[in-house]
Amino acid sequence: MIGINVLKIKKVCITLITVAMSSPVFSQSMPEVDQISTSAGDVEMHFVGHGSLMFKINDFVIHIDPVRSSGDYEKLPQADLILVTHEHYDHLDTDLIKQLRKENTVLISNRNSAAQVPWAQVMKPGDSGKVNKITIEAVPAYNIVHERIKGQPFHPEGIGNGYVITIGDRRFYIAGDTENIPEMKDIKNIDVAFLPMNLPYTMTPAMVADAAKSFRPKILYPYHFGDTDTSKIIELLKETDINVRIRKLN
Ligand code: ZN
Ligand code: ZN
Repeated sequence: MIGINVLKIKKVCITLITVAMSSPVFSQSMPEVDQISTSAGDVEMHFVGHGSLMFKINDFVIHIDPVRSSGDYEKLPQADLILVTHEHYDHLDTDLIKQLRKENTVLISNRNSAAQVPWAQVMKPGDSGKVNKITIEAVPAYNIVHERIKGQPFHPEGIGNGYVITIGDRRFYIAGDTENIPEMKDIKNIDVAFLPMNLPYTMTPAMVADAAKSFRPKILYPYHFGDTDTSKIIELLKETDINVRIRKLN
């Protein structure tokens, strides 16, 4: 089994902070960035905020659930690929998508999001595709326990997606809004996972710990966690070899 140190994650946000201090123009909020090496080159993971992420691999830019209220997009590049997990307002922002779109941008989403963005390519759990040598697999994302009202889960089964993205020899799992569903144990060889922890809509720290133990990512970023106490997930997974990393993704 490959150890965590092989992944060579570097925090490059220090560089960005230096820039921010020397130039008041950047004083707003450049997202934090971690970097991970893959056989296809280094992947920068930009933590925009809440459920919004941006990955950059060489010059290829992937925006995941880009939403303006999650963070500052003014300095971020337009997208080559956009992944939208589902149509809730904190995951689908059609105005921002217009701004991030350039000539050859590919947008992959669930069916309900595509109803609002007609050029989207629809994927449902079990589908997979390739964009610029990057493999994208859609996986299920839904609630079992947490309901809006009795019998109506916040995220009913069969609506939203999670995505597994393979870049070179590394696999990234962005779970979307989901609970610790049984299908997670079929998700294999994940290097980096993003699991949601905001309540009451997705998972408690105990549910995130259970989810993480079911597919054992090498690195776990709780994301989309709102007011949930992140120290709990660190405590719950401290006896495992899962490297839990907390970034500003509330
Ligand atoms: Zn949602
Ligand atoms: Zn959400």
